[in-house]
Amino acid sequence: MINKQDWIDEDYDPQTRYSDLAKFEPEFWKKKPLESLSKEEWELLCDGCGKCCLNKLEIRGKIKFTNTVCRFLDCNSCLCKIYEHRFEKVPDCRDITIEAVREKPRWLPKTCAYWLLDNGYDLPSWHPLISGKASSVHQSQNSLKGRTVISETEVRDYEDYIVDWPDL
Ligand code: SF4
Ligand code: SF4
Repeated sequence: MINKQDWIDEDYDPQTRYSDLAKFEPEFWKKKPLESLSKEEWELLCDGCGKCCLNKLEIRGKIKFTNTVCRFLDCNSCLCKIYEHRFEKVPDCRDITIEAVREKPRWLPKTCAYWLLDNGYDLPSWHPLISGKASSVHQSQNSLKGRTVISETEVRDYEDYIVDWPDL
C-alpha cells in the first residue's frame, strides 16, 4: 500500500537540483571517473529523462524497450512519484549504480548520462548540467514528456508495445 506521505511533493521543482552548482567543481564529470563521484555528484548526472522507467523485455539476449511505463512515473514531469520509497514499493525498480550502467545487455537508454560518460562520450548540450535548466531535457525532446506511453496497469502483453525509438 502507498501512503499519501510517500508521494512526491507535487510542488517539487526539479530546477532546485541545479540551484547550488557553485559548490561543485566545474565539469566534475570530466575530471573524475564515475566510481569516484560523490553521491550528490552522481545524482546530479541524472538528466531526468524517465526513459529508464520504461518496461523492457529481454529477447534472445537483447533488450527491447516498450512504450509502457512504471505505474509510478509521472509522464508529464518524468519524475518518480514515490522516489524515496521506490525500492520498497516496486521490487523490480533498479538502482542506477555503476554495475547497472555496465550491465550487458544494456538496458539504459543511449542518452543516459551515466552510460554516455562510462563509454567515453561527453554530456549532450541539452543535459541540465550543461544548459543549466532542468527543462532542457524535455525541450530537446530527449525525455518521455509528450511521447505516447501507456501505464503498465493497462498492459496485457508487453510484446505488443515494443518500440524502436532511436534514442533507446
Ligand atoms: S535514463 Fe539515465 S539519465 Fe535518464 S532518468 Fe534514467 S538514470 Fe536518469
Ligand atoms: S518506482 Fe522505479 S521504475 Fe517506477 S517510476 Fe519510480 S524510479 Fe521509475
